Amino acid sequence: MSMPTYAPIWIDEELGDVAAMARSFFERVVVPNIARFEKQHQADPETWLEAGKAGLLCPSVPEEYGGGGGTFLHEAVVLWEQSRVGDDTIAYAIHSTIVAHYVLNYGTEEQRRRWLPALASGECIGAVAMTEPGTGSDLKRIATSARRDGDHYVLNGAKTFITNGALAGLIVAVVRTGGPGARGLSLLLVDGDAPGLTRGAPLDKMGQRGQDTRELFFDDVRVPVGNLLGEEGSAFGHLMAQLPQERLAIAIGAVAQAELAVELAVAHAKEREAFNGTLWDLQNTRFVLAQCATEVKAARVFLDHCIALHARGELDAATASQIKLLATDMLFTVADRCVQVFGGYGYILEYPVARIFAGARVQRIYGGANEVMKELIARSM
Ligand SMILES: Cc1cc2nc3c(=O)[nH]c(=O)nc-3n(C[C@H](O)[C@H](O)[C@H](O)COP(=O)(O)OP(=O)(O)OC[C@H]3O[C@@H](n4cnc5c(N)ncnc54)[C@H](O)[C@@H]3O)c2cc1C
Repeated sequence: MSMPTYAPIWIDEELGDVAAMARSFFERVVVPNIARFEKQHQADPETWLEAGKAGLLCPSVPEEYGGGGGTFLHEAVVLWEQSRVGDDTIAYAIHSTIVAHYVLNYGTEEQRRRWLPALASGECIGAVAMTEPGTGSDLKRIATSARRDGDHYVLNGAKTFITNGALAGLIVAVVRTGGPGARGLSLLLVDGDAPGLTRGAPLDKMGQRGQDTRELFFDDVRVPVGNLLGEEGSAFGHLMAQLPQERLAIAIGAVAQAELAVELAVAHAKEREAFNGTLWDLQNTRFVLAQCATEVKAARVFLDHCIALHARGELDAATASQIKLLATDMLFTVADRCVQVFGGYGYILEYPVARIFAGARVQRIYGGANEVMKELIARSM
């Protein structure tokens, strides 16, 4: 007797079609290239263009700006399907779920018309640059300066760990336009071609090796005043407003990867012969994987609750922190147990389960470290 397939209550027929299309795209176009993308530390720009052509980028941006005219639920199904087939090379969430929404929510009409169609087509890839060598969790300490000079800002400083750092044609940069503290921070839309902007070599990460994560250096980079996103001094508030969506996106990927890891481990255990049977015939293997499947399903139910809340505009910062904390911690322990089921093969990066484990580690660190999530949750108690 097999368990009935779990179907999230928020997926209707149309979202089901989007999910099927997204799954087919990632399986056909991306998965066969993962090893190559990992070697070159980035996906091909053409793959982003193909994703744009398939209508997968910016599905929740209104059609008048080149997007799909859908809702966050459309983003959610694409994020889920990408991770469910084992791809982590296309930094989809940063580009589509985060950068496009900064422009949509805080941009002027001119800024929206300039950037959103290019983000939706994949001609322009987006990055968000908060973290600096001197500060990550404590965003109030950001030091990259933007000094006003006539109708330009002049940027000086460095950012690090920037996803899409090599490919980005648009960088939403958090910079200091005013005095110390959060009130001195602003968001600037920095053109990837801006003179004085240079990019470091790919950072040699333990996981997510197909994503281009780099340092960015700003050396007297002149950015037109018209590229200010929102008001001067408003960056911190905008970051805090967008972070729940970013954290939810991380959680979607984490739960999908955990589900995949369990599926892979069950298949391996049922095939791998040992002790006159298979690994599955050993009670310990069955117990470990039964435990994993239960934890993944529990996380998925909470995740679906959060997705439904966000679709109604009701996801608060503490609940978003809870699902990010729970999903990424769960992924890490589940992936570790699944690696164990694979034995030595689980340690070899050619095996998707090894890549899931390696990529799981950072998810407890980025998007706000999980200790920061606990601080945010505790503040609401
Ligand atoms: C692969 C990757 C991709 C990334 N992509 C981006 C990106 O696209 N854009 C971007 O701006 N940044 C990005 N980051 C940066 C990421 O968001 C930061 O690494 C993260 O916020 C932590 O900052 P930090 O590394 O400076 O660590 P620190 O701030 O130095 O913190 C180190 C550790 O201290 C602990 N800690 C920190 N604060 C607290 C607290 N309040 N209470 C208790 N413990 C605490 C945590 O355990 C934390 O892991 C990325 C990082 C990686 C590794």
